[in-house]
Amino acid sequence: MQRFAPAPQQTRCSGCGLPLATAGDAAKPPRCGACLRRPPPWQHCHVWVDYGYPWADIITRWKLQQHPALAAHIARWVLSSPPLAAALQQADVLLPLPLSPQRLRERGFNQAAQLARYWAQHFARQPGSPGPRWRSDILLRPQHTAAQRSLGRSARLRNLHAAFAVAPEAQLADLHLLVIDDVITTGATLRAACAALRAAGAQHISVLALARTP
Ligand SMILES: [Zn+2]
Repeated sequence: MQRFAPAPQQTRCSGCGLPLATAGDAAKPPRCGACLRRPPPWQHCHVWVDYGYPWADIITRWKLQQHPALAAHIARWVLSSPPLAAALQQADVLLPLPLSPQRLRERGFNQAAQLARYWAQHFARQPGSPGPRWRSDILLRPQHTAAQRSLGRSARLRNLHAAFAVAPEAQLADLHLLVIDDVITTGATLRAACAALRAAGAQHISVLALARTP
């Protein structure tokens, strides 16, 4: 596991996480044209790597071939990226993107929750900073939805819109929330989750994903 070099730092759009040709400005995170025209429901999308070799193989093995122990390696690699470590440390609450109850039974673990727990425990051990908490009881996915790839675009969006719920007693307005996902493909799932958080009063939402399909 240690033979892989850290992933290269790449300038990415702060909206969709896709690579950008121009260098970023620390004071003003860059946005691609598409995200300027149609801003996503989050402030910043943090992405570690493009979804490709060798990361795609490792992520697949971790979550689909039942190797939950890979989570700690992957979580440590992400912490070796200074901007991602800063985004995690500055969040108040890490919210793993939930699986439906049926998917959770099939897989046996929620890969995003494994990461969130690792990172919260990591920062809790650092002196001087409270670091983020992680909560799996705020952003909820109460019902199973049809597999997205079997549906057309408009059916996908309807399917997703009903998928997420937020705990009714959650007080989110003053918290910096960081939603944790493993792979962003279209971003539709994260948009639906963040729209549910916004509807529940959240005002500061960013997202962090391991990988982005280029
Ligand atoms: Zn973008």
